[in-house]
Amino acid sequence: MFTAKFWGVRGSIPSPLTPSAVEEKVKQALQGLISHQFRASDVLFDITAKDHLVSVPFWQRATYGGNTSCVEVRCGEEIIVLDLGSGLRLFGNSIFGDMMKKGGLAISFLLSHVHWDHIQGIPFFGPLYINKETGIRNSWSFYGGTNYIETAEACLRGQMDHPVFPVSWKEIKAITHKMHTDSLYDRKAFSVGDAHIKTRKLNHPQETYGWRIEYNGKVLVYTTDNEPYDPMCPDPRLLDLTKDADVWITDCQYTKDIYEGKVGGVPRHGWGHSYPEAVAKTAVLAGVKHTALFHHDPGSSDKQIYDIEGVCGALVRQDQKVSAAHEGMEITL
Ligand SMILES: [Zn+2]
Ligand SMILES: [Zn+2]
Repeated sequence: MFTAKFWGVRGSIPSPLTPSAVEEKVKQALQGLISHQFRASDVLFDITAKDHLVSVPFWQRATYGGNTSCVEVRCGEEIIVLDLGSGLRLFGNSIFGDMMKKGGLAISFLLSHVHWDHIQGIPFFGPLYINKETGIRNSWSFYGGTNYIETAEACLRGQMDHPVFPVSWKEIKAITHKMHTDSLYDRKAFSVGDAHIKTRKLNHPQETYGWRIEYNGKVLVYTTDNEPYDPMCPDPRLLDLTKDADVWITDCQYTKDIYEGKVGGVPRHGWGHSYPEAVAKTAVLAGVKHTALFHHDPGSSDKQIYDIEGVCGALVRQDQKVSAAHEGMEITL
């Protein structure tokens, strides 16, 4: 079994739905029901409402989610977590039962980089606080870059130092059965169980890495926080990673107009993020089967993310799939 599940899909900062955005969704859903001539006294309320909701576009009836980057990957029994954004809190809640039943879990955490939206979930990852003296033997392996001003571990430690957080990294290490940090660098290849992982450097204002994970004859690629050098001539490192991928999870934070500063304020050149035209170009050249757009801008509404998906989807081949990732979305390779 080779799967990916999204726990956080936003970039930069958590961005929960505002009350007015929820109100607007409810209003539009009710307007849709009224146009179906639904009567409140109808005994078929549940069926009618459910039938109606299925016909409402995803951006209108739900939300892509406001948590920052975190994707759970399962390669058979192996658990790999890509980035530790605020979505990590929900992932942590989801594994408690399994952790207690098995007497502990081993997880490999891969850090693309240490900008806050990729590490801020770790202080709220519940299983981190389970003391080995309870008999639960958890094993955490962190993989991060080598050339930050601080090491990856120092960055994780720093956001939990007093006085900004009440429990220190040192205290966490003392109660955990096993914890270690490994280094990442361009072209590093390593294995987690039977999953083979290749690392390539991306284009972002900090040392940032993407991964190609191969398992059971299938390929999953994750490249978040990446800006195209030239949208018409994709970065060879990116093509190297994405070649013939079954699933490519990629940064697609802006629209092209926002990236170029035609709308929404200043141009985003040099901010380290991508847009649908550039993503589609790479997807076509690399022959990616399914491209999952990710790291949505905190300022994008659900409708804007849906539109970005539409723009990208129209530029790839017909046999290629594009979807905007949302919290809870699962992909089986
Ligand atoms: Zn980011
Ligand atoms: Zn970043």
